Amino acid sequence: MRVLEKAPAKINLSLDVVGRRSDGFHEVRMVMTTIDLADRVECVGLRENTIRVTTTAPYVPEDDRNLAYQAAQLIKDRYGIDAGVSLFIQKRIPVAAGLAGGSSDAAAAIRALNRLWNIGMSYEEMLDAAKKIGSDVAFCIKGGTALATGRGEKISALPSLPPCWVVLVTPDISVSTAKVYKEWDRYPAVRPDVDGMIEAIRRQDFTDICDLLGNALETVTMKKVAEISKIKNHMKRIGAEGILMSGSGPTVFALTQHESRKQRLLNGMRGYCSQVSAVRLSHPVEPLPKSE
Ligand code: ATP
Repeated sequence: MRVLEKAPAKINLSLDVVGRRSDGFHEVRMVMTTIDLADRVECVGLRENTIRVTTTAPYVPEDDRNLAYQAAQLIKDRYGIDAGVSLFIQKRIPVAAGLAGGSSDAAAAIRALNRLWNIGMSYEEMLDAAKKIGSDVAFCIKGGTALATGRGEKISALPSLPPCWVVLVTPDISVSTAKVYKEWDRYPAVRPDVDGMIEAIRRQDFTDICDLLGNALETVTMKKVAEISKIKNHMKRIGAEGILMSGSGPTVFALTQHESRKQRLLNGMRGYCSQVSAVRLSHPVEPLPKSE
């Protein structure tokens, strides 16, 4: 049997680092939303008791370093599944780009295996498995728009944003999330207004959402990747309503509600970077139909 799941990317609208915890992780408050750019995770059941991972991206590991592999291993162990699975990951989300591609693949694998092996995990049980894999995996179980706290694993749903375009620009440099958090300690704190962002979303006030975009990690990554400020300045000149680096970067996104500005941003940014696209926001994930 074959089960397909979409694994959408996320962007951070507000990312505050509250401090470092005694376990070495950082305490965060983040408002995140999923976008209509997704990997596809296809699971095929195997009689042989093994996990196989293949991907379409050259630098993504296909062994137990792959987050979707780790998700499958955890589900097999936790629910005593005496069968195997082959996971085929069609990558469309840029890798190590601040868009949670690996985390979303792991979340999609949890959802898919729940169906493939008829485990009957509740949303809470899926969240519990997700948080063992990585901080962003819990959010990716359902996606949509949410506040994530703790290490990022405590999720409270928020209303969807007003409709808009998201223009994504990813410089050709990969960024290690762990390194950026490590460096954060050495920079003066930048504190975005997370509560203001939540209120703006509740009011559906697109102008305020754009004005309140903020990311405590932005200055850290900007020091290493000079392109980020150039991209931001250029997007501002073109007329984006709101601009921010997502996660630990280096992807920069712009929000606009105007089709003509979206087109202008796409045309203007294509000369700067090879990875430029415009997508819509996406709804919480719905499973794709199961096939025999
Ligand atoms: P986040 O925004 O959650 O910090 P990211 O978008 O910056 O994540 P990913 O694309 O998830 O980064 O990849 C980070 C690293 O994780 C990659 O360099 C890769 O080695 C590893 N990895 C493990 N599994 C995957 C996967 N399924 N897809 C992509 N990368 C993966």
